[in-house]
Amino acid sequence: MPIHVQALSRRGFLAGSAAAVAGLAVGRGAIGAEWDANRFALLSDTHIPSRPEIEARGVNMTRNLQRVVGELLALEQKPAGVILNGDCAYLKGLPEDYANLASCVEPMAGGGLDLHVTMGNHDDRGPLYDALVMQKPDRVVVASKHVSVIESEHANLFLLDTLFEVDVVTGELGQEQLAWLAEELDRRSEKPAILFAHHNPQFTPPEEGTRWSGIQDTAAFFELIAARPQVKAYVYGHTHRWSIGRRDGLYLINLPPVAYLFEDGLPNGWVDAHLRAGGMTLELRAIDPNHPQHGQGVALEWA
Ligand SMILES: [Zn+2]
Repeated sequence: MPIHVQALSRRGFLAGSAAAVAGLAVGRGAIGAEWDANRFALLSDTHIPSRPEIEARGVNMTRNLQRVVGELLALEQKPAGVILNGDCAYLKGLPEDYANLASCVEPMAGGGLDLHVTMGNHDDRGPLYDALVMQKPDRVVVASKHVSVIESEHANLFLLDTLFEVDVVTGELGQEQLAWLAEELDRRSEKPAILFAHHNPQFTPPEEGTRWSGIQDTAAFFELIAARPQVKAYVYGHTHRWSIGRRDGLYLINLPPVAYLFEDGLPNGWVDAHLRAGGMTLELRAIDPNHPQHGQGVALEWA
């Protein structure tokens, strides 16, 4: 299983082994740079197309991601991980989309930034693994799903897979993944847990004749969470709408898209997350530095 232990002491070793595996792969790079083991860069919905010049809704998605990668590389204290929470590819998860994505994120490897991805409804696991070799797990733990656990000092991060069918809006975790998640959470019950997946929770079924647009097994997912109080937050993308909500004490964090928006005036960009004892602080980094929400900080607290 792809367990990613975030510990600075391991970097020296890993820099000499894992990173050397494949040219297009993203892995650990420079040794000796300053990392913050409790900092994570949260990205979602990059929607990278097959060619860099392709735009959608007035946005050049490739340029937006390149810009964010540049910002990450320029950080004085580098994040322990960069999480791209699904819809990495434009619409159909084409090999060409991932080739473009691989060249966008390639500088991260040299800069010592670890990339972790989840699958969105516009992704396709096979072509993604082919282009981003490091993302392919050594061993599949949940059939047809891409999952991993990042263990860090103050919280364990669980990266889940809600891809149901490529280019179909609906999200699903599925029984096998839920069983895996329950087991992995129960093995780590003492430390706060933060769950990541692409799709939004959807608590009411869609109207007849329409599809689920969120997670169709939300009820089972939230029943599992409710029984495990160490779960403090669920982080998702999909709606392209930055927001933080709360439900029964659980934080619901909807990441902004790196790519285009569905509604004018909302911010796109990424979120700088700092984990600490008893909580996490988030800061919005908007693509437009003049956006009124750029730099907005939110402190989340948990017992
Ligand atoms: Zn999207």
